[in-house]
Amino acid sequence: MRSLKILAADPISEEAAKEIRDMGELELSPTISSEELLEKIADVEILIVRSRTKVTSELISAAKNLKAVIRAGVGLDNIDREAAKERGIKILNTPEAPTQSVAELTVGLMLNLSRNICSANASIKAGNWEKGGLSGTELSGKTLGIIGFGRVGKMVSELALAFGLNILAYDPYSSEEEMQKASVKSSELGELLSESDIISLHVPLTEETRNLIGENEFSQMKDGVLIVNAARAELLDEEAFYSAIERGKIRRAALDVYWGKKPSEKLLAFGDRVLLTPHLGSSTIEARERIGKLLVERVKDLV
Ligand code: NAD
Repeated sequence: MRSLKILAADPISEEAAKEIRDMGELELSPTISSEELLEKIADVEILIVRSRTKVTSELISAAKNLKAVIRAGVGLDNIDREAAKERGIKILNTPEAPTQSVAELTVGLMLNLSRNICSANASIKAGNWEKGGLSGTELSGKTLGIIGFGRVGKMVSELALAFGLNILAYDPYSSEEEMQKASVKSSELGELLSESDIISLHVPLTEETRNLIGENEFSQMKDGVLIVNAARAELLDEEAFYSAIERGKIRRAALDVYWGKKPSEKLLAFGDRVLLTPHLGSSTIEARERIGKLLVERVKDLV
């Protein structure tokens, strides 16, 4: 039997690669450029990507033999799903694999924003013994607003309950009953914005959610709110976000995701008011292992 031509255009684990090799002809090109991929794609039958590779309509038009794109992870916003659907190309992902890791990073960022851990580390290593300026706030007793009560949002709420946070969640597609069961108060977006001390975003990037939080939404927030975004940068209107930091509406923000490939100069210039991580949400040994296992299952279903 002829084996399927599989191209991994982003990194996959060695274990997954070994098992996939038993099912097809696998080529690993984890740093391939979009131009090189466009040249190669005509022969590829299964394309494996993470978030780096953009599966554009141009790439899909050139992919004459493509049967499926597997996104190792959750977000599908790097894939032109309409173009793929028109060509009958399947889109698969491994959505459950990174949940725990993203939720844990989110809570870590919240703790860090509240207690200035990273700033304290930088300060002490610069030779200072600065306590006053690094005094923080507790999480306990504060209100956390979770926007998007899916896998990650729900897991963040479970972890946050242990810190004594009161939790509001906004998700028009999730039931009130489900939130009640999780000891979370279902709320409208306006209520969440005006009552939360910390706001964390956990919605996918779609046409509906792009710029979900803009000037109007920032102005409804409490003065000195803390923002955590480990979902997608474009959920926040970039200029409105900068302006909210400049006028102190946002006291501090932690971001794992950016409007361009990297943080802008303007964002970096905010210094300690922003805490930045390089898209580390699912970068754990455990998430990588789960992604690898699920990836192998997805390929198995296709061959
Ligand atoms: P999910 O699909 O389980 O949950 C998303 C939730 O958002 C759903 O419950 C959905 O109903 C809700 N939602 C959709 N539109 C909404 C809207 N307009 N307003 C409010 N809620 C809305 O996804 P998940 O597994 O929880 O992941 C959430 C997002 O986290 C992903 O889409 C991805 O962008 C991001 N993510 C980031 C990393 C990282 O490395 N930083 C890793 C994994 C996932």
